[in-house]
Amino acid sequence: MTPEEFRRFGHEVVDWIADFRASIRDYPVLARTRPGEVADALPPSGPEHGEPMDLILADFRRLIVPGMTHWNHPGFMAYFATSGSGPGILGELLTAALNVNGMVWKSSPSATELEQVTLDWLRQWMGLPAGLFGTIYDTASTATMHAIMAAREMAAPEERGRGNWEKLTLYCSEQAHSSVEKGAVAAGIGQERVRKIAVDEKFRMRADALEEAIRADKAAGLKPFCVVATVGTTGVAAIDPVPEIAGITERHGIWLHVDAAYGGSAAIVEEMRHVMAGSERADSMVVNPHKWLLTPVDCSVFYTRRPEIVRRAFSLVPEYLRTEEDPRAVNMMDYGVPLGRRFRALKLWFVMRSYGRVGLACIIRRHMEIAREFAGWVEQDERFEVMAPVLFSLVCMRYRGADEQNTKLLEEINQSGKAFLSPGQVQGKKVLRVAIGNYGTEKEDLVRLWQLAREAAGRL
Ligand SMILES: *Cc1c(COP(=O)(O)O)cnc(C)c1O
Repeated sequence: MTPEEFRRFGHEVVDWIADFRASIRDYPVLARTRPGEVADALPPSGPEHGEPMDLILADFRRLIVPGMTHWNHPGFMAYFATSGSGPGILGELLTAALNVNGMVWKSSPSATELEQVTLDWLRQWMGLPAGLFGTIYDTASTATMHAIMAAREMAAPEERGRGNWEKLTLYCSEQAHSSVEKGAVAAGIGQERVRKIAVDEKFRMRADALEEAIRADKAAGLKPFCVVATVGTTGVAAIDPVPEIAGITERHGIWLHVDAAYGGSAAIVEEMRHVMAGSERADSMVVNPHKWLLTPVDCSVFYTRRPEIVRRAFSLVPEYLRTEEDPRAVNMMDYGVPLGRRFRALKLWFVMRSYGRVGLACIIRRHMEIAREFAGWVEQDERFEVMAPVLFSLVCMRYRGADEQNTKLLEEINQSGKAFLSPGQVQGKKVLRVAIGNYGTEKEDLVRLWQLAREAAGRL
C-alpha cells in the first residue's frame, strides 16, 4: 500500500466511522444473524493473490457489519457496556500505526512512560493512595489471574521451583465473577480450593463467613493465601465490605485483591469515591477503563502495592532482553505473563485528556441518574419489580411471573433492535439486566426501552 493509497483509503475509513457513529441508532443493537451465516458468506480459503482495498471495504460493509452486535449503540445495555469514544478510537488508530511492542523500556520509552503517567492520573482521580504501581493488561480476567499468581508467590515462594500449590486456598463471594475461579485454575489452585463465601441480603460477601472459612482451612492444615473482594459484582453490582475484609486479610497475612472491573470507574465521581473505601489496604486491584471509561477494548488497569512481589512472580529475563539498570527505565515485561505488550495507554491518554475528569464524571453520573430514574418507573408498575439495590448504573428488573415469561420478554426486547439486555439470576429467579454504560445512552433510550418492556408485558 503506497502512502497515497493509504491516505485515500484512510480517509474513506474515517468517513465511514464518522457516519457510523452519527447514525448508530439506525442499526439494530443485536445482530440479526443466524449461527454460521457470516462464515458461510465468506470464501472457504484465503485469496492466493492480493485483492483491491475497494473490494475489501465493500465486503466489510456488506458481509461483516450486518453480523455485528453494536456495543457502541446507546441501546446496548447487556453485560456491562463498553464504548469506544471518538478520542479512544483515534488513540487506537495511532497505536496500530506506531505498532510498538512495549516489552522493555528501550523497546519504546514513550509506551512505558505514558502507561505509568496515565495510570498515576487515574489513581488520583479514583482517590487511591500514592505509591501504587500500575500496569495495563488486556482484560480484568488476566489482571485477576496475575493477582492470584502474585498472591501465590507471596504465600509460598519456596514452591516457585517445584510448583506444588496444593495446600493453598482462595476466597471470593458466591457472587464473584467467574474469572476468579478461572484465574485460580490457571494458577494451579484446584477449583476445589476456591471457597465461595455466602453473601448477605444485599449480595455482599459476609465477612464473618469469610473469617470462619479461613479459620476452618487453617485448622485443617491448609494455607489461605488470597481473598478476592468485588466492588460492583457482575450479577447485581453489589459492593463487598472491603474495609472489614481488609481487616481479616491483614490479620491472617493473606493477599487481598479487589475486583472493581466495572464499579471502580465510578470512583472518579466525587460522591462515589466511597466505593473504593478499604481498597487502599488491598494488595492489588483491577479497574477496566474499557468498561465505563469510554476507552475501546481492551484496556484493563491493574494496581498493586507490592510490585516487587509481582515482579518476583514473573521476572525471568533472557540474555537478549537484559538492559542496564536504571530505576526510571521500567521493563513492563517483568510484571506479567506476556512479553509483547500493546501500547494501550495511548487511547486512555486521549480519552482522559479529551474529556477531563469532570467530563467523564458527568457521563458516569448521568448514567447513574437515569438508572435510578428507570428503576423508579419499574417500581411503580405493579407487574414488575426491581430485584437489587441500584448502587451504580445496573438495574436488575423482573416481570412478576414465571421465568419463561421473563425469557419471552427479554427476547422481544432484544429482537426489537432498539435495546439489548442480558439475562441474570437473582435469588433463584430470572431477571433482565439493564446495564447502562454507553457514552451515548440518554434518557430517551430508557424511555424507549421501558415502552418496549411494558408493551411486551401486555402481550404476556
Ligand atoms: C467484566 C468483569 C470482569 C471480566 O472482565 P474482562 O475484562 O472481560 O475479563 C471481571 N469482574 C467483574 C466484576 C466484571 O464486571
